[in-house]
Amino acid sequence: MRILIVGAGISGLAAARGLLAAGHRVTVLERADALRDAGGALTLWPNGATVLRDLGVDLTGLGTRLTAFEMISARGRRVLAMPGERLEARLGAPALCVSRRDLLTRLYQGLPEGTVRFGEGFTRYVQRGRTVRVETGSGAVRTADLLIGADGMWSRVRTALFGPGRAKPTGMATVQGLARSALDLGGRSLLLAGREGKAGFGPAGDGVVWWFFDVPWTPGGPDEKPLDVLRRRFGAWAWPVPDILAGLTDDDVRSFPNHRHAIPRHWGRGRGVLIGDAVHGMPPFLAQGANQALEDVSLLLRLLAQGEERLPHYGPLRRRRARFASTLATYGRVAEGPFGLLQSEPALRPMTAASETQATAALATLIRATSNRLQTRAAPRAPAA
Ligand SMILES: Cc1cc2nc3c(=O)[nH]c(=O)nc-3n(C[C@H](O)[C@H](O)[C@H](O)COP(=O)(O)OP(=O)(O)OC[C@H]3O[C@@H](n4cnc5c(N)ncnc54)[C@H](O)[C@@H]3O)c2cc1C
Repeated sequence: MRILIVGAGISGLAAARGLLAAGHRVTVLERADALRDAGGALTLWPNGATVLRDLGVDLTGLGTRLTAFEMISARGRRVLAMPGERLEARLGAPALCVSRRDLLTRLYQGLPEGTVRFGEGFTRYVQRGRTVRVETGSGAVRTADLLIGADGMWSRVRTALFGPGRAKPTGMATVQGLARSALDLGGRSLLLAGREGKAGFGPAGDGVVWWFFDVPWTPGGPDEKPLDVLRRRFGAWAWPVPDILAGLTDDDVRSFPNHRHAIPRHWGRGRGVLIGDAVHGMPPFLAQGANQALEDVSLLLRLLAQGEERLPHYGPLRRRRARFASTLATYGRVAEGPFGLLQSEPALRPMTAASETQATAALATLIRATSNRLQTRAAPRAPAA
C-alpha cells in the first residue's frame, strides 16, 4: 500500500519503521524543518519498550535502564520502592528514561533517505474511492491508499476526519527540563509527592538528569515565571529538590499545560486513521502518552498484516486500554495539587507498609492493563530495522 503519515513524532516515526518493514511504500509529512530536539525526556515503560523491540529498534545505549522506582514524601521519607529488574522479570522488557531527542533520533535512523519530508504541513485531504488526496501548506499534493494522522495533540488530521473537538486543559501543568547536574541517580527514578504537587527525577543518559514538577495551572492564570513558582512551592522540599532548583535558570525551564482529548469510539474514517496524541492526548501523570502511541502502532501493524479489512477493528480494540490510561492520568491528579490532603505525610504513611514485591506487582498490573501488546505472546510481526 502507499501510506502517508502526517507527523514525524514518536508515533509517526515508529509507524514508518514498521510499515516499511512490512513492505509498504511510506512517506512521512512533517510540518517542522527538522526533528524536534527539545521536550525534555520521558519514561518508556516495558510495554513501549516491547513495541520498540518488535520494530527492531536497538535499545542499547538509549537513555538509562531504570533499576529502581522510588516514591518519597516531600519531607524525604521513602514511601514505596520497586526494583526495576523485578518489573522487567514480570513484563519481559526494561523501563528506560530517555531524552526525547535521543528517542526520535533512534527511530529516525535507518529510515530510507527521503522518507520524511520536512517542512510539509498537512492542510486538508479528500477521499475519492479508495484513494486519499492530501494537500500540504507548500501547495504540494500527494495521493495514497491510507492516511495516518500522527500529528499530535492539536491534530489537523483528527479535525479533518471527525470535525472540531479540541483537547481540553486539565487544570495542571508540567514544568520540566534537563539538567547537567552533579546529582548521580544511577538507575533510580524518583517521584516526590506532597501537598504542593509532585516532582520527579530520572537519569536521561550521559550524565543528564530529567526533572519535572506538576503544578496547578489555568488558562489566563497569574503570569508568574515558572522558575519562581517552583522555588516558591517546592523550595522547602527534601533532597534532591533544592539541589536541582538551585542550579536552574529561567532558560532551563519550560511549562507544558496538560490537556486531554475525549477519546472517540472509532479511530478512523474511510481511508484515514489516527495514532498517538492525535487520538488520545493525555496528561503525563502516568507517563504513558508515548507508550500508548507505540501500542497504537503495534496494533495497527498487526491488523494490517492480517488484511486491511481488519482496519475497522483498530479503534474498538485499542480504545478501552488507552481510555483506562487517559482516565488514570487525568484523575490521578486528585492525589496532588489542590487536593493535596491525600499526599500529606499521614496519608502517605500507610503506603510504607507495602513490600517491594507488592508494590512492583501493582505497578506491573497497572502497566499491563494499559497494554494491548503485553496481552499477546509473540511479536506481532517479524522485526526488521
Ligand atoms: C511534559 C511532558 C512529559 C511527558 N512524559 C512522558 C513520559 O514520561 N512517558 C510517556 O510515555 N509520555 C510522556 N509524555 C507524552 C508524550 O510526549 C506524547 O504522548 C508523545 O510525544 C506523543 O507522540 P506523537 O507522535 O503522537 O505526537 P507528537 O510527539 O506531538 O508529534 C507530532 C508531530 O506531528 C507534527 N505535526 C503537527 N501538525 C502537523 C501538520 N499539520 N502537518 C505535518 N506535521 C505536523 C509535529 O511537528 C510533530 O513532529 C509527556 C508529555 C509531556 C508534555
